[in-house]
Amino acid sequence: MPRKSAPPVYVYSRATLERHARVFNEALAALPKRHVAFAIKANPNLAVLRVMQREGFGADVVSGGELARALAAGMPGHDIVFSGVGKLEREMVQGLEAGIGQFNIESEEEGIELAEVAAARGQRAACALRVNPDVDARTHEKISTGKAENKFGVPIDRAAGIYARLAALPGLDMRGVAVHIGSQLQHLQPLEDAFVKLGALIAELRANGQTVTHADLGGGLGVTYKAGEVYPTPAEYGAMVARVCSSWDVTLMFEPAGSSSAMRACC
Ligand SMILES: *Cc1c(COP(=O)(O)O)cnc(C)c1O
Repeated sequence: MPRKSAPPVYVYSRATLERHARVFNEALAALPKRHVAFAIKANPNLAVLRVMQREGFGADVVSGGELARALAAGMPGHDIVFSGVGKLEREMVQGLEAGIGQFNIESEEEGIELAEVAAARGQRAACALRVNPDVDARTHEKISTGKAENKFGVPIDRAAGIYARLAALPGLDMRGVAVHIGSQLQHLQPLEDAFVKLGALIAELRANGQTVTHADLGGGLGVTYKAGEVYPTPAEYGAMVARVCSSWDVTLMFEPAGSSSAMRACC
């Protein structure tokens, strides 16, 4: 097939990436126990990932291919979080071989499968249970992930039971909970609503005798595409997180993508 037009060229500014990574980190400075993982789907370019790695970011991956890229960019396994529905057995093995820091489990069935895969290798997989808080992110329906009808995570009202059953499996080290309600959020309120529900779940789990040392708050901060659009700033986001979550006594984890990438023009 003859080519009708030249292939596209993408040019990224390293200085802008570094600045945005630092703005995001500074916005979270009040939260000493934190881990920031760049959601690779925003930009899997190896040179971009290396910049994020030098800024101290780990990676949030949703496939074996993304995991390989994070490792190739020099991100240590323990800084990598494996999210996403439909992880394949070979991807679970790949994650266990790489010693990744955390699997975010999307369903009870997936947790059971991961437990079997890990136990067969004599390993315990560090995991967080992703819950669906049934909050309307008020964003485009294709990038909304936190309403009950979305496929991501377990319903929050069933989460305590599922967590307890998974924590009893020898192949799993259940260490926390995770939430990600969608991308391109223009308002902080849906995030705050989700975090309040997550905090209540953590209290319930602990009251049941479960261990919770990590809470993954996902991504979601919107990116300015057009002049005149107004989105919450990383500083406003960080202040809200500090207000709602700093009493939880956990390591807070973040999975920014759009908000920390080169596209964001306003910070
Ligand atoms: C897409 C995605 C992110 C990143 O979201 P942004 O809104 O772009 O910051 C984080 N975590 C998960 C699980 C995702 O699917």
